Amino acid sequence: MSESRTNATPTTSRTGTAPEYPAGRAVEVRGVSKTYANGLRALEAIDLEVRERDFVTLLGPSGCGKSTLLRMIGGLIGPTSGSVVVGSGSRGAAPAFGPPGVASTGRRAEIPRPHETRLSFVFQAPTLMPWASVERNVRLPLDVAGTANESAPRVAAVLKLVGLTDFADVYPRELSGGMQMRTSIARALVTEPRLLLMDEPFGALDEITRNRLDREIRDLWARRSLTSVFVTHSIYEAVYLSTRVLVMSARPGRIVGELAIDEPHPRTDAFRVSERYAHWCKQLSEMLAASSDEGSGDRSPRE
Ligand code: ADP
Repeated sequence: MSESRTNATPTTSRTGTAPEYPAGRAVEVRGVSKTYANGLRALEAIDLEVRERDFVTLLGPSGCGKSTLLRMIGGLIGPTSGSVVVGSGSRGAAPAFGPPGVASTGRRAEIPRPHETRLSFVFQAPTLMPWASVERNVRLPLDVAGTANESAPRVAAVLKLVGLTDFADVYPRELSGGMQMRTSIARALVTEPRLLLMDEPFGALDEITRNRLDREIRDLWARRSLTSVFVTHSIYEAVYLSTRVLVMSARPGRIVGELAIDEPHPRTDAFRVSERYAHWCKQLSEMLAASSDEGSGDRSPRE
C-alpha cells in the first residue's frame, strides 16, 4: 500500500510549442487553475499525470471541482491558467488546449477532435435521444464522424460488450436506469477510445446496479486496455475501481493526496467485503477528512 501527499505547487509552465510526449503518459495537467466567468474560483494549482492503462479516480466533496477538471481533460472547457495535454505516447507531440483566444498555454487553443485523441466522455446522465433506438443512439458518434457505413459490426460488438444485443431496437424510455447507462457507455466505446472519461456515471443508480456496473466498467477497462479517469464522491466506488485515487480538497479544489490501490484484477465481490477493502476505505476516509481541513473555505455567494 502506498500513500503520498502531493505538492500542489505548479512545476512547469509551458510556452510556445507543444512538448514531446513521454511514452506511456496519457494525460498531463500542469499548474492548472480555473475561475469561471462569474468569478468563482473552482480549481487552483492542479498538477496531475495519468499513465496509459491507469484507472485514476478523482475523489472529493461535491463542488470541489472534479467535473471541472474532467471537463478540461476532455477539452470541453479550457483552463484559466496552466496547461492540459492529452495524447498517446506513441504519437509524439500531443495537442494542447486552453480557453479559446486566451494565452494560458502560450498559444491559441486547439480543441482536439475525438478521432485524433481517441477519448470519450460518459456524463452523469445517460443523455440519450429519446426518439431513437438503442442501436441508433450508440451509432450516433459514427454517424457524426461520417463513418456510418462501417458502423454495423462496431455497434454490434459494443452492444454485446455491454449486454444489450437483445435490446438494439428498444427505445430509451423502455430501459431501466442501468440499461440506459450501459447504452451511454456503449456509445462512448463505439469510437474505440483509448481514454475514457467518466463523470460520476452511476451516481443516480441504486447501489446494487451501481456495484454491478462498477464491475462491468472495470472489466471493460481491462479487456479493452483503456486508460480511465473517473469522478466520484464515493470512497467505496473509488477503492473498487481504481489503480490510483487522487483526493481533492474543498473549493477551490486542489489535489491534496494520492493513494495507489495495489490490488490485482479482477476485483471480485469477495474483495468488496474483504479486510483489505475496508482498510483502503478507511485510509481514503481519513485522507478526505484531512483534505476538508485543507480547503480554504472560499464560499463565494456567487455559487
Ligand atoms: P464537483 O464535480 O466536484 O461537484 P464542479 O466541478 O461541478 O464540482 O463545480 C465546482 C464549482 O464550480 C462548484 O462550486 C460549481 O457550482 C461551480 N461551477 C461549475 N460550473 C460552473 C459554471 N459554468 N459557472 C460557474 N460556476 C460553475
